[in-house]
Amino acid sequence: MGLTGKRMKVIIVGGVAGGASCAARLRRLDENTEIIMVERGPYVSYANCGLPYHISGVIAKESSLMVVASEGMFRGVFGIDARTNCEAIAISRKEKTVQLLLFNLLAQHYERRSAIITSNLASSEWGG
Ligand SMILES: Cc1cc2nc3c(=O)[nH]c(=O)nc-3n(C[C@H](O)[C@H](O)[C@H](O)COP(=O)(O)OP(=O)(O)OC[C@H]3O[C@@H](n4cnc5c(N)ncnc54)[C@H](O)[C@@H]3O)c2cc1C
Repeated sequence: MGLTGKRMKVIIVGGVAGGASCAARLRRLDENTEIIMVERGPYVSYANCGLPYHISGVIAKESSLMVVASEGMFRGVFGIDARTNCEAIAISRKEKTVQLLLFNLLAQHYERRSAIITSNLASSEWGG
């Protein structure tokens, strides 16, 4: 619960190491918080650090790099709504909204949240 007694609604921009760690930590802190994690790439969470080993052949299978293999596992195990192929294209701090671009549907969509966390190594080029 937030300070107002209302259920917190959080959106995390970026998956992989930072975003997924943040989402898991938030879930541990509060099992009721509604958590959405958006990742513009096709994978929810994978081991960046293992990439050189995969390229050099030490880790043969690409699938061995997957930390959490699917969005479904994030939902089922952690209750986190993880969305891949979904890019945050604008944030309004004033309105507390994130504008999302859904690649698979070629559609745009707004999410209103109580908190917005950016974990995408982004510069502050977003408006609002
Ligand atoms: C080859 C390699 C080897 C490494 N080896 C080590 C190591 O040995 N030890 C170590 O400690 N660290 C290592 N690191 C660094 C470690 O992996 C990084 O600290 C980590 O990748 C940073 O994670 P992150 O989640 O903060 O950022 P990122 O991995 O960059 O993840 C950010 C994610 O945000 C997504 N994103 C960006 N913009 C948007 C948007 N607008 N909307 C939605 N999604 C968006 C991106 O697609 C990306 O997946 C290595 C990194 C690399 C690349």
